[in-house]
Amino acid sequence: KAHVDAIDRLNGRLNAFITVTSENALKAAERADELLGHGDAPDLAGIPLGIKDLFCTNGVRTTAASRMLENFIPPYESTVTANLLRDGAVFVGKTNLDEFAMGSANITSAFGNVENPWKREGDPQTALVPGGSSGGSAAAVAAGLAMGATGTDTGGSIRQPAAYCGIVGLKPTYGRCSRWGTIAFASSLDQAGPMARTVEDCAIMLQSMAGFDPKDSTSVDHPVDDYRAACSGSLKGMRVGIPREYRVDGMPAEIEASWKQGVEWLRDAGCEIVDVSLPHTKYGLATYYIVAPAECSSNLARYDGVRFGRRVEAPTLDEMYEKTRREGFGAEVRRRIMIGTYVLSAGYYDAYYLKAQKVRSLIRRDFTEAFEKVDVMLTPTAPSPAFAQGEKTDDPVQMYLNDVFTVPASMAGMPAMSLPAGLSERGLPLGLQLIGRPFDEKSLLAAGHALE
Ligand code: GLN
Repeated sequence: KAHVDAIDRLNGRLNAFITVTSENALKAAERADELLGHGDAPDLAGIPLGIKDLFCTNGVRTTAASRMLENFIPPYESTVTANLLRDGAVFVGKTNLDEFAMGSANITSAFGNVENPWKREGDPQTALVPGGSSGGSAAAVAAGLAMGATGTDTGGSIRQPAAYCGIVGLKPTYGRCSRWGTIAFASSLDQAGPMARTVEDCAIMLQSMAGFDPKDSTSVDHPVDDYRAACSGSLKGMRVGIPREYRVDGMPAEIEASWKQGVEWLRDAGCEIVDVSLPHTKYGLATYYIVAPAECSSNLARYDGVRFGRRVEAPTLDEMYEKTRREGFGAEVRRRIMIGTYVLSAGYYDAYYLKAQKVRSLIRRDFTEAFEKVDVMLTPTAPSPAFAQGEKTDDPVQMYLNDVFTVPASMAGMPAMSLPAGLSERGLPLGLQLIGRPFDEKSLLAAGHALE
C-alpha cells in the first residue's frame, strides 16, 4: 500500500511507470499476506517490484515504450517474470524505458521522458535524465516506488541507469536468465537482470530470475549458485584487475577519484590489486554500434502491421508496411534499423558486420586471458554522472559515448554489476562497475557487498 501510494504521489513527475497495476498488486499482496501467515513463504512473497515494459506480462499491456505496441496485451508471461511471480513477488506496474531499449537517457520513449529523482546541488530546477534504457526501473527503485525492478541490458541498460540513480544493477552472464518473452532488441547481447537498492536485494531477485529455460535456445544449463550466501563471502585473496585501457583521455577528475577510492576500499577488504590489459576494448563501442543495430534491424522486421501491434491501413501492401513502420517507430529506432540494414546489406556485410564479429571475438579473448590472472575487474560504470534533460540529444554519437565502459562486457557476454560509489562534486551519485568471469555472479556479489 505504501508503494502504491508513493506511485500515486510521485509518478506524475517522474513518469517512471507506463502502466500502473495497483489493483492487481493489492490483490496479490493479500494473497502474499496469507502465505506469510503460514510461515514458509518464498523469499519474494509480497515484495513490490516494477517490471520493465519490455517483459511480456500475461494480460497486462506491454509496450516496449513504442507506439508500435501501444495497445499490445500479451497472451503469455515471460519466463523471468513467471519466475518472480512463482516466488511470490507483487508487480506494481510496468516501467518506462527508451523505445525498444535503444538509448542511454530514457528520452526516446513514446510515453515521455523519465525524470531522475536526484537533483544537482543548488539547482533544483534542472530535471536530469535517469540513464537508460531501464531508466523507469532505476528511477522507481531510487525514489521508493518499488523495492526492486527488472531491467534488461544489451550494452549497459541496467548498469548505467543504476549508476545515474544511485542504486545497484546487475547484468548477469549472457544465457543466465531466459530471454523468452522479453521483447528482443539485439538477441546475442540482451540479458535480463535485477535492479535494487542493495546488493543483497539484487542477489535475492537474481536467485528467482536465473535458471535454464528450454524455451530460449541461448539459455545455458548451468547450476544456479546460492547468490544470497555469496553476499557474505570473504574477499581475502581475491584478485581485482584494473584494466588499463579504461583510463580514457579526458576522464573527468571526479570519475577518476571515485575509481581510485573503489580500489582502496577493495584493497582494505583484503583484495590484491592487479594491473590488466584489454587491448581491444577501444573497439568495443564501434563494434557494438554495428552488431546491435544489425540484430535490431532483423528483430524489428516482425512489426509489419500484419501479425500484431499497430497497423496503418493503406491502398497497397507495401504502402501499409511503410506507413505502419513510419508511424510506429520513433527516430532513434528508425536510425538503428537503417544502420543495421546497411551493415548487413550485400557489399557491406563483409566490411562491417563480419569484421565487427571478428573484433568481438578478440574483445572476448582479451577478457578470457585477463581472467586467468584476476577474479573480477573494477572500472567506472559511466564517464559522467547524470546529465540534464535535453543535453546530448542533437548528436547521437555523443549519446553513444555514454556506453564506453559498459559495452565491452556485453560484447564478451561477461556478468557485470554497477554499485553506488559516492557522490560527484555537485552531489549526484557515481557508479563503479565490477566485471566477472562467465557464471561467476557470486564474486561480483561478494565484492559488491564489501563495497557497500
Ligand atoms: N545505450 C545502449 C544502446 O542504446 C545500450 C542499450 C541497452 O543496453 N539496451 O544501445
